[in-house]
Amino acid sequence: MQIRFWGTRGSIAKPGPGTVRYGGNTSCVEVRSAGGTLLVLDCGTGAHALGQALVASGNGPTRGHLLITHTHWDHIQGLPFFAPLFMPDHEWDIYGPRGLSQSLREVLAGQMQHPYFPVTVDGFAATVRYHDLVDGSLDIGDVRITARYLNHTALTLGYRLHDDAELVYATDYEPHLPELALTGYTPTGGRDDDHVSFLQDADLVIHDCQYTAAEYPEKQGWGHSTVEFVVDAARAARVRRLALFHHDPNRDDDAIDRLVADARQRLDQAGSTLEVFAAAEGQMIELRGSTPASAVGGGVRGGRSAKGPGGPLGARGRA
Ligand SMILES: [Zn+2]
Ligand SMILES: [Zn+2]
Repeated sequence: MQIRFWGTRGSIAKPGPGTVRYGGNTSCVEVRSAGGTLLVLDCGTGAHALGQALVASGNGPTRGHLLITHTHWDHIQGLPFFAPLFMPDHEWDIYGPRGLSQSLREVLAGQMQHPYFPVTVDGFAATVRYHDLVDGSLDIGDVRITARYLNHTALTLGYRLHDDAELVYATDYEPHLPELALTGYTPTGGRDDDHVSFLQDADLVIHDCQYTAAEYPEKQGWGHSTVEFVVDAARAARVRRLALFHHDPNRDDDAIDRLVADARQRLDQAGSTLEVFAAAEGQMIELRGSTPASAVGGGVRGGRSAKGPGGPLGARGRA
């Protein structure tokens, strides 16, 4: 599995001299599976450059799958600027959490109404299919995907991807128990334990860590994790590598370096070998794992190919 970060910033794009190393674009991660399946995690402003690169690659029409965690702006603002959607013969499936009152398509169409953007979703020239997800599992190409609700201020799904390696993409997430954001994760028998089980034994976890414990009291209820919570949770889950992600727009490159140094110190003190780094725009990672497919899951199978009509998980309820 190959991973490339096109946007690592949280909340709002933040270009400028202070963010050149870790990047100013909002969430967008390209994933290429061992079998060549193209998946894109979130469609923040980083999707613009990804779309340009896909079109310029000279490989012909793209066939891809866009997995959206939730429809806050920083995760969808790149959609109207994602070039493959405007090109005939290209084919994209878009997945995201089923809304309470609107379908995924309706919500995405909302940001492309005429007061906001000159072209509506009807202007997509590509073949585009929308899939409203609830938590559970589905197969896309050679990738097994488990979607799990995250504790956030909107309906949000995290995604666990498995080909011959395992990747968990968990943004945005706030601990259910606020004290764990302050002290770091420890098992409590509550729903944060379920979150740790979602991360369990992954080769790489990409996780929201927008705040520090010191910052958290002013940010409680905003829907985000602290680095202390995430480092402890990844360690408890025996994760191999942890990418700190969804960088706060107020944290410049040097401040992110300090965040990583603090995280490493916390792991050293715990005697952990977990590798931690901050996700940087443009960074590529090759993941190799050895976990058999049968060991993954815990949720129901969606039971439908991504090529099928409608939402693979739409009628399945919670796993
Ligand atoms: Zn966000
Ligand atoms: Zn959000």
